[in-house]
Amino acid sequence: MMAFVSIAPVLLAGFLSVYSIRASHKISVANVEDTLIGQQYAEIRSFINDAGEFNTVSTFEKGGVAPGDQVAVSKGFFVSNPALEEIYFISVDGKETVRFNKSYPEGVLAQDLRDQSILKSFLTVAKSGKQYFGHVYYTLKGPMMTVATPVRNKSGSKIIGIIGGEIRLSKIGELMRKAQLGNSGYVYLVDGDGFLIANSSGVAPIMSLKKIGLVGEVLQGRSFLGPEGQRRYLNFEGNQVVAAARFLPEYGWGMIAEWPTEEADKSVNDILYKNTIVLLAVTIAVVLVSVVLATLIVKPIEMLEKGTERVSQGKFEEGVDIQTHDELEDLGLAFNKMMQGLKQLQQLKDEFVFIAAHELRTPVAAMKGYLSLILDGLTGPVTEKTKDFIQKVINSNNRLIQLVNDLLEVARSEAGRLTIKVAPIDVVRPIKEVLSELQSLADKSSVKLIYEPAANVPKAMADADRLKEVIVNLVGNSIKYMGGSGTVTVVHEIQGGMLVTHVEDTGLGMSKDAQAKLFEKFYRVQTEKTKEITGTGLGLFIVKEIIEKMNGKILVESEEGKGSTFSFSLPVAG
Ligand code: ADP
Repeated sequence: MMAFVSIAPVLLAGFLSVYSIRASHKISVANVEDTLIGQQYAEIRSFINDAGEFNTVSTFEKGGVAPGDQVAVSKGFFVSNPALEEIYFISVDGKETVRFNKSYPEGVLAQDLRDQSILKSFLTVAKSGKQYFGHVYYTLKGPMMTVATPVRNKSGSKIIGIIGGEIRLSKIGELMRKAQLGNSGYVYLVDGDGFLIANSSGVAPIMSLKKIGLVGEVLQGRSFLGPEGQRRYLNFEGNQVVAAARFLPEYGWGMIAEWPTEEADKSVNDILYKNTIVLLAVTIAVVLVSVVLATLIVKPIEMLEKGTERVSQGKFEEGVDIQTHDELEDLGLAFNKMMQGLKQLQQLKDEFVFIAAHELRTPVAAMKGYLSLILDGLTGPVTEKTKDFIQKVINSNNRLIQLVNDLLEVARSEAGRLTIKVAPIDVVRPIKEVLSELQSLADKSSVKLIYEPAANVPKAMADADRLKEVIVNLVGNSIKYMGGSGTVTVVHEIQGGMLVTHVEDTGLGMSKDAQAKLFEKFYRVQTEKTKEITGTGLGLFIVKEIIEKMNGKILVESEEGKGSTFSFSLPVAG
């Protein structure tokens, strides 16, 4: 728990730093790619504008451009602009009036002039009055494009002709080859159909790239710029790249920058790797420290827990030994003081019980003696009624004597003064003696006592007097709690080096709850059938103490209404 609580903030901080490093890296990559695309775009635009800038001709006089001027102007453009493959003037009805191209640098012959009235370039410019950029087409000289511009009168209100030309776009390739995106990144330009116009490196496939990367999407007029626009995918060669793209609206083209992530993410991956190593080291350190700290805290708490357990069992000898030099140590000292106090209290209580019981013994014994004398008529004649009363006093006095004896026994046991001398003894004899002592009591209650030991019952390690006490209690209880006539059987059995003696009766029996508490001090089963039977609730407690002091165990099996079996074990001698 402690380790978790300490690691959580470390991990959170680690993840946040990874997140922010990644986010800022994403922004940096986007910036680099966007800037490169922006530069390339500007260069392409200026190249096309330079090559196709025929706007100056719009300053010609009303009524058309004089043929001589057309030639001079066209030739001027043609010579000064090497990207122009061809240049021509078209009249408002679509007929070429002048044309220069690489094969006819002095101008084509009049009969070779063409009618362009049905061409898209002518129609678009004539209709819209705007500059026209045609589809890119591919020749052996490289990609080409038709450009056309209206020629207006001086006031600009009327189109008086069109000047057009074919531009070689291979120059764009030259421009783009200078573009740099790390060592492995590249930019490329595609036309509206997805065919490559130019790229910064490598050989272009002759096919539409629409299905590859961002080409298809960018040609629909979308741009992928900034960290949000950034995309990652596998490029044409199957390498993972991080890409940005921009739609060039004037021409309907798309420009895409792709940077293999192996290079683009290298720096950030290095940082993240180091970050992870540090995070791992910190996590391990935190776990170790927290485990050590937790152990330092938990150990004393465990000691206190065990201490309280001992207190609850009435064992006050062993205190706790906490040496943490902090509040826990103080708590341990306070706990030990409390234990001492409880020990003194217990000693006082034991002493009190012992003294009280001891002091009671003589008077109750005297009372018993004198009452017998009175009953026997030694003090003069006694009426039947007085006899009856005195008998009742004697019975009560007997119970008092039993209680006093039991209390003395308990007090002795608790003070550790229960004297038990264990020696190898023959258990059959003392048991037989006890049973014959109890025979008259059994007869009175119509209870049959059965004890038929085998000839070879082994000797056991026990104290004969104490064993008699145990049998008196157990067989006495069986007779007392028989609830009518029945039998009590005593049998022996050998189990794993122990001599087990079972005292079985066919008496009242008891519930499972009662069985669990049976050997506790002062516990008595309270039912309709037992409420008239007198007792102290100390007998079985004393029996258990005696058996355990003789290194044995005692347990009970019972069923209400059917009877009980008390079984105790004693170590077999030798
Ligand atoms: P008590 O002085 O009440 O007999 P014990 O400690 O000897 O005290 O017994 C505790 C309780 O266990 C009794 O009150 C009695 O209800 C129950 N008990 C003991 N032995 C038997 C038995 N053989 N059959 C049924 N109940 C018994």
